[in-house]
Amino acid sequence: AAKEAGKGKYMVFDQSFLQVFNERVNLEKYLRQGLQNGEFQLFYQPQVSVRNGHITGFEALIRWNSPELGFVSPLSFIKIAEDSRLIIPIGEWVLFRACAFASSFQEEGYGKFKISVNISVIQMLQDDFIDMVMRALEDTGLEPDLLELEITETLIMESFDALIPKLAFLRSKGIQIALDDFGTGYSSLGSLQDMPITTLKIDKTFIEQVSDEGDPRSLAKAIVLIGRKMGLKVVAEGVETEQQMKYVKRAKCDMIQGYYISKPLSEEDTIQLIRSKKVYDIRR
Ligand code: C2E
Ligand code: MG
Ligand code: MG
Ligand code: MG
Repeated sequence: AAKEAGKGKYMVFDQSFLQVFNERVNLEKYLRQGLQNGEFQLFYQPQVSVRNGHITGFEALIRWNSPELGFVSPLSFIKIAEDSRLIIPIGEWVLFRACAFASSFQEEGYGKFKISVNISVIQMLQDDFIDMVMRALEDTGLEPDLLELEITETLIMESFDALIPKLAFLRSKGIQIALDDFGTGYSSLGSLQDMPITTLKIDKTFIEQVSDEGDPRSLAKAIVLIGRKMGLKVVAEGVETEQQMKYVKRAKCDMIQGYYISKPLSEEDTIQLIRSKKVYDIRR
């Protein structure tokens, strides 16, 4: 009986394993296909200056509408793309597309807007990563200081020694570097000081906690203070309500990004927004 039970368990494990395995293989196949067939799009979410309500730039966010799977969130496919290394060609497509889009604003006379692009550490660890970034700037004509690379805090800490020299080189070229989802990882304040970064993006989990004006959670405020003391620009992510906006304004964040301002927009809607010269009313 014990043998039978064991066998039964094994079978169950085997089946679910196979199912998961097949799903991953399929997802990988569809991702590869998606890249070839142009199924990816970039959406752009405005970042707004807390000081004057002007749009300072946009974060490029990938969108995938698969004919087989429908809309798939980057939260579910980026990890698979990283594990299969497909993130390398996908990430290259993202960077070139985003730089070309930002560069076109200037050509059309809409002014200068920074473009922030999420970069996976898998990409950064590639030997030709720096060449690829420099090529994206050259080919699209985007000024280096209008490009910001966003790297998540957790990932950077895992490969600190290999990444710091690369980041330092990119910084020396004028490219901006943001530490994304800050506060969720485990960088010590000491290592923060050694990172050649320009921007801290406070993770939205800290902003979510701001729900009652009378009880402002001091953690978000402390993070802003640290960033400012280190001479970094501080961006609050995931600002959804007026209350949260007021809070981050009082905490002296430099920029806000979130549904309170705008959801990520298609290329067409982004151009419309820029043309409208919209200034956001960020009241006190
Ligand atoms: P992230 O870089 O931290 O991007 C911010 C995420 O928060 C985006 O989710 C954005 O749509 C969402 N968001 C913005 N404002 C609000 C708000 O007010 N409330 C809430 N609840 N959410 C808000 P999205 O687009 O689903 O992307 C998820 C993550 O996927 C990104 O997090 C980033 O880590 C990754 N990702 C997206 N595009 C790319 C890409 O092109 N390359 C790489 N490597 N990763 C990407
Ligand atoms: Mg980001
Ligand atoms: Mg983030
Ligand atoms: Mg995130």
